[in-house]
Amino acid sequence: MDFSVLTIFPELINPFSNLGIIGRSIERDLISVSAINIRDFAKGKHKVTDDRPYGGGCGMVMKPEPLAAAIKAAKKKNPSAITIHLTPQGRPFNQKLAHELLDNKGLILICGRYEGVDERITHNFIDDEISIGDYVLTGGEIAALVIIDAVTRLIPGSLGGIDSADKDSFEDDLLEHGHYTRPKSFMGDEVPEVLLSGNHAEIEKWRLETSLIRTFLKRPDLLKKRQLNTQEINILKKWRSDLKKLTHA
Ligand code: SAM
Repeated sequence: MDFSVLTIFPELINPFSNLGIIGRSIERDLISVSAINIRDFAKGKHKVTDDRPYGGGCGMVMKPEPLAAAIKAAKKKNPSAITIHLTPQGRPFNQKLAHELLDNKGLILICGRYEGVDERITHNFIDDEISIGDYVLTGGEIAALVIIDAVTRLIPGSLGGIDSADKDSFEDDLLEHGHYTRPKSFMGDEVPEVLLSGNHAEIEKWRLETSLIRTFLKRPDLLKKRQLNTQEINILKKWRSDLKKLTHA
């Protein structure tokens, strides 16, 4: 997967690409990340990339010509890549959408600044619009990094075979169970006995139980979407009845 990030602040993107799973995935040729400076495509001595809005009002708007030239250059490098405008007005980004994006050979991620980009860029160059949440950032770079990170860890081999993304939260509409490591006792708080038992069937059962219960408590909206099987329904019923007994005691 090739990620091209179109930005006026490439220095925000480059350091991120060297580290951790993203850095390793680049080394393993699973992904490439390039930051394309929109300013390099601006004409004139001052390389201006923004201008005042027609109709008046505050703020600046990103000019269409440098952006269009930058998108064309990115497309030339990777003709099958899709062009995504990062904007608070886009489709909400989530794990499902991260999986959907994985089907592409490349993503050209357009980062706006100021009041955003000239509408004619959206009309003529954009395949999709994505938002990373219902809040407004000062620029699209953090959104681009969020997408690169979430999509990369779904690429087979990116997690190095040690971890696996398919048990993570939001896969199959569940939150993942909790994790413990050494020491066995921390501030009087003990690791659950079952995790020390070596009994893999029991450990799996505990993980499913805690995953279901914490999803019920923290994100019941997810459970509504999940097709619960009989074992899962029984786990939740038993938990509910244990809870009732406890509260009546
Ligand atoms: N005036 C725009 C509006 O109200 O819809 C907001 C512009 S924002 C200050 C500047 C840039 O930050 C946007 O062009 C976009 O690229 C990026 N941005 C801000 N919030 C975002 C979000 N929630 N998701 C993705 N990109 C975002």
